[in-house]
Amino acid sequence: MGQCRYCHENAGWFRRQHSDCQRAHARAVAEIDRMGKDAALRGRGLDTLLDDIRRVAAAGRVDVGGSAMQDILVRAWGLAVDESLEDGVFKPEERQNLNRFRVHFGLGEDILNRAGHFDTFRMMHLIGMIQNNEQIPRFDRRAARARFGRFPFNLMKSEEMVWVFREVPYYEQVTTREFQGSSLGVSVRVAKGVYLRPGAFRGRTVSSSSMQRTDTGTMGITTKHIYFGGTQKAFRVRLDRIVSIMPYSDGLGIMRDRARAKPEHFGLTEHNVWFAANLVEAIQSADDLALPGSDDGTLDDIVGAMVTGDAADIIDDDDDDDDDDDGNLVPVSVLGSS
Ligand SMILES: [Zn+2]
Repeated sequence: MGQCRYCHENAGWFRRQHSDCQRAHARAVAEIDRMGKDAALRGRGLDTLLDDIRRVAAAGRVDVGGSAMQDILVRAWGLAVDESLEDGVFKPEERQNLNRFRVHFGLGEDILNRAGHFDTFRMMHLIGMIQNNEQIPRFDRRAARARFGRFPFNLMKSEEMVWVFREVPYYEQVTTREFQGSSLGVSVRVAKGVYLRPGAFRGRTVSSSSMQRTDTGTMGITTKHIYFGGTQKAFRVRLDRIVSIMPYSDGLGIMRDRARAKPEHFGLTEHNVWFAANLVEAIQSADDLALPGSDDGTLDDIVGAMVTGDAADIIDDDDDDDDDDDGNLVPVSVLGSS
C-alpha cells in the first residue's frame, strides 16, 4: 500500500499521493509564490511574510524547513525580477523594493544569481538609471582589468564605458550580394523609456550563409560608441551613426549609417542581446547623459549603496522576537567590498 507523500496516510494501492493533497499542495505553492513575489515587488509586508508563508505552507504541506524557506524567498525575488521586466518599464520604486526585500532577508548576490537574476537586476539598474537621466555609474577599470586582463580600448574623454562583453564573435557579411534591408531581421524601435521585452526576438539567429565570423574579441558599450577589439580588428562605431539595431536570439546586429553599409553581428547570448539592445537604445534616446567623476560610484557601489542605506533602516525597525523562527535562514553578506 502506498503512503501519501503529503499527509503520510494510506493513499491506496500503487499511489504516492491523494489527489486532494496534491491539489492543496499545488495551490499553496502558487499562493506562496504570489505572496513572495508581491512582497518583493511592492516592498511591503516583509515583517509578516515569513509567518504568512508558514501558514499557507502548513495548509498545503509545503516544506519550509532547513534551507527550503530561503529557496522560497530566492525564487520569489527571481519571479519579481522577471515580472518587473514584463511590463517593459523598470521604475525606481521597483529597484528599491527589490533591494529592500533582499536586504531584509539577507539574500546575497551569489544565491540570488543561481538562475542569473542578480545579473539581470544589475542590468535593469543600469538601463533604468540611463532612462531616468540619472548619473552614469563610474566604470570600474580595476575590476575590469582583474576580470578581463588588459583593457583594450582607448576611450575619449567625453565618454564613459558602461558595459564590457568578453569573447564576442564578430560576423560580417562577406558575399558580394547586395544586402536586402528586411531579409536579415527587423530593426528594434521601442518608445523612449520602455524596454524591449525578453524573448521578443526568440528564434531568429545570426547564422546565415552570407555572414562569416571574421574575429573574436572584447566588445564594449560606452555612452558614445560600441567598441570592438579582437585579434584581427579593432574599431569603434558611433551610436548615433547606427541606423538599425537587430536583435537575434544569438547575436546583436547593427547597420551603420553610410553608403553600402553591410550588416555586422556581435555574437551574444540571448539574455545579453536583450540587454545590449536595450542599453544602446536607452543611450541613443537619452537627452544628455551626466558622466561620473573619479569619486563617483561604480554600478556595484550603487547597487550596494542602496543596500547599506536600506539595511540600516530595517535593522532599526526590526523586532528581535522572530529571531528564533528565522534560524533556518542563512544570513549572507550583501554588502559590497567597502
Ligand atoms: Zn494525502
